[in-house]
Amino acid sequence: MSPDFSALARGLRTGLNADPRHAAVVPPIYPSTTFSFPDGIGPKPPYDYSRCGNPTRDVLGDAIATLEGGAGAVITSSGMAAITVAMLALVTDGGTVVAPKDCYGGTWRLLNELASRRVLEVVYVEQRDFAALEAALDQAAVVLIETPTNPLLRLVDLEASIAAAHDRGVIAVVDNTFCSPVRQRPMDFGADVVIHSTTKFINGHSDVVGGAVVSATGETHEHMAHWANVIGTTASSFDSWFALRGLRTLDARVRVNDANTARIAEVLQSHPAVSVVYWPGLTSHPQHELATRQQRSYGSMVSFELIGGLPAVEAFVGGLELFILAESLGGVESLVAHPVTMTHTSMTPEAQLAAGISESLLRLSVGIEPIDDLVTDLTAALDRAVAVSGN
Ligand SMILES: *Cc1c(COP(=O)(O)O)cnc(C)c1O
Repeated sequence: MSPDFSALARGLRTGLNADPRHAAVVPPIYPSTTFSFPDGIGPKPPYDYSRCGNPTRDVLGDAIATLEGGAGAVITSSGMAAITVAMLALVTDGGTVVAPKDCYGGTWRLLNELASRRVLEVVYVEQRDFAALEAALDQAAVVLIETPTNPLLRLVDLEASIAAAHDRGVIAVVDNTFCSPVRQRPMDFGADVVIHSTTKFINGHSDVVGGAVVSATGETHEHMAHWANVIGTTASSFDSWFALRGLRTLDARVRVNDANTARIAEVLQSHPAVSVVYWPGLTSHPQHELATRQQRSYGSMVSFELIGGLPAVEAFVGGLELFILAESLGGVESLVAHPVTMTHTSMTPEAQLAAGISESLLRLSVGIEPIDDLVTDLTAALDRAVAVSGN
């Protein structure tokens, strides 16, 4: 497609109307595990075996790479597989990875396991604390950044952190799962590698587990593709095709997600059941200005604390009908999670407390349902929480 069109349009339309055989508008699925050598003995054809390369998977990789402004993307069987590929490809000789103190739980577990086998060393820092981050970078090979963080929606300044990493020859990897490329493009701030759990916003329908490793340069991309093939974590053609179908509506979904969330954040903020709301779109958020600078919109993850502790939390969750009590995020359906007992159980109670994750905290992934119905549901449940806490 003409480079005059936006990366957003080109990315979302990747592979459409490109079928020379039947002029199919939508690209077909190639489930074949093996491909023939049409020219006989000689050089390898572009595809020979689907673990190494698959045409359906490559369309999804091209789409995500275009959206992120990268040279290429490796599509993996999960977000954790993507992080595994990136770490094994980038860290040699037990080098140090600087990761966020409050990073995704699966990432925390993976890095600790790899460290226990001396594949790498890991140092956890509060990445909002720029001096602490800089000090840790002095010894590092790779920095892994998450912004906004889960579940408290804290931001890390991408431009400043990536520049600090590059000043010291440190490779900057950003897990962009929470934003998706339509809200934030870390490569615009110099990121070398961007990771996605496509399970979340990119697929967007809570029916595919998958991941992606996007590289800024062709050389790094080849290296990632090599490692994904070595470990054997490349995604299936069917999963790739479904994720590609989900990706077509990414921009449209996120616009509704985020508009709905703005309303929800207002409702939460003005309800007597709620003591504090964490959402970067609120002017009361301490990093609202940074969010405006580095994100295109503020996201559909919002967290808040209820007055009245666990009884209020139970009354609230029990009163919801549309919001489903479940982990994960970024789908078309609205979800509610209780981090202390659900997403963050791998942390010790002390670590939860230190990270600011209390038993009164709830996290919403706001979907694309009609907003008035979401507000009705939420308000009824919040009223129940007030009745229990008696405030
Ligand atoms: C879900 C998630 C992952 C892991 O992805 P899976 O697809 O579940 O393996 C990694 N990072 C973040 C920020 C996530 O939300």
